[in-house]
Amino acid sequence: MAPRKGEVNDLTVLPELTELGILEELQARYRRDIIYTNIGDILIAVNPYKDLSIYGPEIGEQYTHEEYLHTLPPHVYAVATRCNSSLWNNGLQQCILVSGESGAGKTESAKMLISQLVRCSRGHRNKGLEEQILEVNPLLEAFGNAETVMNNNSSRFGKLIEIIFSPNGSITGAQITEHMLEKCRAVGQSVQENNFHIFYYLLAGLRPEELDLYFLSNPERYRIVDPGHGLLVFPDVCNFTSCKAMLDGLRHTLGIVGFSTQDMQLIFGTLAAILHLTNIEFVIDPDTDSVIIINEDEIDYASVLLSVQPEDMVAVLLANISFVRGERIVNLKTVPQACDGRDALSKAIYSRLFSWIVQQINLMLCDRSEADRSAITFIYVLDMAGFENFLVNSFEQLCINVANEQFQSYFNNYVFHLELAEYEREGVKQPKIKFNDNQGILDLFLQRNNGLFAVLDDECCLAKMTDMTMVDKLNQAFVRTEYYRKSRHRDPVFTIAHYAGLVTYNAVGFLDKNRDTMGTNLKSLMENSHNKLITELFTSQILDTGTLHVNKKGRGKNSWTPPEWKKPHRPDLGPEETLSRRAGRKLREKMKSGGGGSGDFQLSTGANTASGYFRNSLSQLMVKISSAEPHFIRCIKPNGSKTANSFDPKLVLNQLHSTGVIETTRIRRLGYSTRLSFQEFLERYKFLVFPLTAAIQTHPDNCKIILEIFLKYWHVDELSRLLNRQYEQLRTVQRLVRGFLARQHF
Ligand code: ADP
Ligand code: MG
Repeated sequence: MAPRKGEVNDLTVLPELTELGILEELQARYRRDIIYTNIGDILIAVNPYKDLSIYGPEIGEQYTHEEYLHTLPPHVYAVATRCNSSLWNNGLQQCILVSGESGAGKTESAKMLISQLVRCSRGHRNKGLEEQILEVNPLLEAFGNAETVMNNNSSRFGKLIEIIFSPNGSITGAQITEHMLEKCRAVGQSVQENNFHIFYYLLAGLRPEELDLYFLSNPERYRIVDPGHGLLVFPDVCNFTSCKAMLDGLRHTLGIVGFSTQDMQLIFGTLAAILHLTNIEFVIDPDTDSVIIINEDEIDYASVLLSVQPEDMVAVLLANISFVRGERIVNLKTVPQACDGRDALSKAIYSRLFSWIVQQINLMLCDRSEADRSAITFIYVLDMAGFENFLVNSFEQLCINVANEQFQSYFNNYVFHLELAEYEREGVKQPKIKFNDNQGILDLFLQRNNGLFAVLDDECCLAKMTDMTMVDKLNQAFVRTEYYRKSRHRDPVFTIAHYAGLVTYNAVGFLDKNRDTMGTNLKSLMENSHNKLITELFTSQILDTGTLHVNKKGRGKNSWTPPEWKKPHRPDLGPEETLSRRAGRKLREKMKSGGGGSGDFQLSTGANTASGYFRNSLSQLMVKISSAEPHFIRCIKPNGSKTANSFDPKLVLNQLHSTGVIETTRIRRLGYSTRLSFQEFLERYKFLVFPLTAAIQTHPDNCKIILEIFLKYWHVDELSRLLNRQYEQLRTVQRLVRGFLARQHF
């Protein structure tokens, strides 16, 4: 009596452990809308792309009792409950790692995990806070999510949520750390994709008088939401009419987080400034042969909203001004350089605004009594960007994929190495299992002095380096390693054999992206703004690493008065003169005169690279995760068309391969994945041998009696008939027997 297709809750009990067997089982389950499957203690979740009636408070409640979990079908709620129990039983910090490709369902799973964790802390209710933890999601998603080809509501940042518990089991706070926001999206995106949702909410949802206040008009006017001019499509999450409701919802959430109406005005004004800033266009002025701006209205609007002098803004957009030994050096920019500066500034404003909002959310979620932090315990939920392989892959994909390598390595380490170490400790004969160790590829990237990132950083510091010379260096350094493939042509392209497959990277723009400098001039312009929000964004320690230095004092409500935003009149400009022409003239004069000056703009030192921030942030994340006991959820995308009831076996098999699921199944099966304590074992299986009402002492000998008797009925089918129990449960018992007997100390 073999189990019927689609009825195997735990893949480790499959009689035939083949790729095809696993795939067919997942597919059969998916057809029956069973999206969750266990592999030992790892949960596989296949995205249903439709609402299933398997969620909500009532079902969640059923899953809150750990002792009954094994009688219920696998579920994301079960992972949360088990995690919560382990926290209290083992006293170890816990961590749930949710991984998978974009659109596989990570973020949705993470939200369900949080709501279940909140349910599990039942009995110690701390109502307001728990609701707040769930309520901030729309705010994070408005600023951090965008519609992509892969996912209509794709998170463009990774996040680690820490749920903080007090010793009595109640949730006392939460902290969100954001990682690697894809900030380049703020200045443009590829066709069929959209910018961050918030821009659409604003343009469609602001009231007419608010649009006037921020100098905004038709959405079609803004390059970053309508790069194709006339191709503006509102994201799926918000058509034009629903955007108004979205914005109202957002105002409500902002209010909950503690933002006053004035704060909101500053936030919206900053976003509007980005819309204006990114619209600025540069051309060569044929008269003077230098760069000018053709739409200076946008300069005016952006400067007013950012509270800086338009003249200063123009100057720093058109030239680099530096001081070397007291000498002022003026370098006029080319059109591409001016565009880069404009975009770098816009990206910096956006990513800092995002970090700052997360910081404010954290202040709200964690300003509870800080007393006795030592007694506090955490559960971490990590929702990270999944492995990416597009037609064109750039620096951002490289970072995301390296992060994924790191997590895969952590996963391997946990599942394989620790498992084998445990057998060794218990004196169990080791099963023969091979797995794809990806340590070599991590070394290729991360080695301190000669890894790929180190080469990249070195090249960034040298003048005259181009993306091509950088790739030449990489070719030289890595062509002999098995994970690196050089391009056959002489183009700035290289291929990496990632654990999840070959990815070809286009290195055009790598050096610039890695330098990640918006230029010290632009930075000091922002630091000297008269707008409180802007100065806070650029002077506080918000780094792009997601490392926030939370200001413990918090910000008093209504502490900021928004500045008066009025477009300036310029009677001083002659009829032919424009701001940028005049600025160009002055800059050229300064170039000629040279000479010292106390400086309109001060240079600040410290050249950090994007890859440095990235590595730093990744290692901080790993430190946190490694201190905790992990639980893994592997999300699987069933098809490439974001639709329900469609299962593409090839696509799924690829994901199973790349996440090591196949190998995991093998080790879980060959190994001994069920680890019950003597007490749990007795509670579960004493009925096999002892009278139901008998009080059985928790003692290894009693376990042994059960096992010995069970051994006599080794044939599962026969026993199954005898006891009329579920086949699967008996397989588990059979495996338990093997496991127990293999342990010499038993
Ligand atoms: P990821 O974070 O992995 O990129 P998401 O969690 O945003 O993916 O999921 C993408 C989309 O898939 C969601 O917007 C939702 O429509 C759908 N989805 C994901 N998980 C579920 C689920 N458990 N039930 C129903 N729909 C889901
Ligand atoms: Mg997501």
